[in-house]
Amino acid sequence: MLKPRWENEVLTSRVEFRRALVAWFRDHGRDYPWRRTHEPYPILVSEVMLQQTQIATVLGRGFYTRFLERFPSIEHLATAEEEPLLKAWEGLGYYRRVRMLRETARAVVAAQGGGFPQDLPALLKLPGIGRYTAGALRAFAWDLPAVVVDGNVLRVLARLFDFTATVDDTAGLKQLWAWAGELADPENSRLYHAGLMELGQRICRPGLPDCLSCPVAGFCKTQLPSALPVKKPKATTTAVDEHALWLKDSQGRILLHREGGKRREGLWKLPTRDAGDVAKLPLLETEDYSITRYRVCLRVYDGASLAQPLPAALDEYWIAPDDVMALAMPAPFRRVIGRFLEGK
Ligand code: SF4
Repeated sequence: MLKPRWENEVLTSRVEFRRALVAWFRDHGRDYPWRRTHEPYPILVSEVMLQQTQIATVLGRGFYTRFLERFPSIEHLATAEEEPLLKAWEGLGYYRRVRMLRETARAVVAAQGGGFPQDLPALLKLPGIGRYTAGALRAFAWDLPAVVVDGNVLRVLARLFDFTATVDDTAGLKQLWAWAGELADPENSRLYHAGLMELGQRICRPGLPDCLSCPVAGFCKTQLPSALPVKKPKATTTAVDEHALWLKDSQGRILLHREGGKRREGLWKLPTRDAGDVAKLPLLETEDYSITRYRVCLRVYDGASLAQPLPAALDEYWIAPDDVMALAMPAPFRRVIGRFLEGK
C-alpha cells in the first residue's frame, strides 16, 4: 500500500500530539457516567451499547442507567434470564450484542470469580471481546497501554495522515491500527483514548470538521478533510414489505408470535403472513424501518375480517393486553402495538 510521505513526520511529533490532545481533553472532555468509574463491568456495558447506538440515545433515553439498575454487577448479568435480558435491551436493537455480553459475564464469573483479566491475550480469549473492546477495557478501566480504534478514531487518523486509500478494508484497517498503536500515549492511556474518540465525535466530525477548534490541527496533514475517510461503496438497500395481522380473540387477548432463530430468539412481534393470505384484509397501519440493508414497510391488517377464525400457529400465543408491553419486542412492532393499545 502507498503510504503518505509524511507518515514519519506525524509520528516523530507524537509526544507533542499526545500532550495537545490530553490537555484539550482535560479541559473540554464531557462527563459521561462511564467516565466516572474505573470498574470494568459498567465500562464494558457502555462499550457494547455504544457499538451501534449514539451516546445521545444511550444516555438521553436512559438505556445505560436502566440496564445497570436491572443488572448492577457482572454476577447479576451472568445469571440473567432470557426474557428480562432482552427486555432491558429493548429499543437498542442488535440483540446478539446483549446475549454475547452475558456470555462474556458468564466466562468472567466462571474463570475469574468475577474479576476481569487485564492482559490483552487473556481478554481476547473471552467470548465477545475483540481487539477494540479489549483495548477499551485496558485504557478506560485500568489506564494501561492500549490501542483503541472505533469509527471516530479511524476518521481522525485518516485525516491526520491524509490517508486517501480505503479505510474499511483489510489493508486500510491494518495500516490505521498500526498508526493508532504508534501514536497512542502509554502514560495517559485513559485520557488519551477518550480524547481521541471525543475529538472525532465533536470536532473532527463526519463531513465538514471544525478544524478551527481542533487541538491537534498543527499535526494534521489533510488539505481536504471533508473528502476523508474514503470508504468502500455501501451495499444497495432493498425495499421489502412485511405483512402482519392485528387479531384479538373473544377474551380480548392479542395474537403474538415468539421469534426463533439465532438473532432474534425470544423477541415478540405480531404474527406475519404471506402477502397473498392478507391481500383482501383491510390495512390498519404501516410502519417503516430499516434493518441491515433492507428498508422494510411493515403493513398491519385487520385479522378480525378473516372469514375463518385463525388458529394460532406454532410459536403464536394469545396474550392479555396488560401483559403485552412487558414483553421484549423489536422497536417497530412495539410502536405499532403501542398505537393499537392506546386506540390510536
Ligand atoms: S485539523 Fe481538522 S481534519 Fe485535522 S484532525 Fe483536526 S478537525 Fe480533523
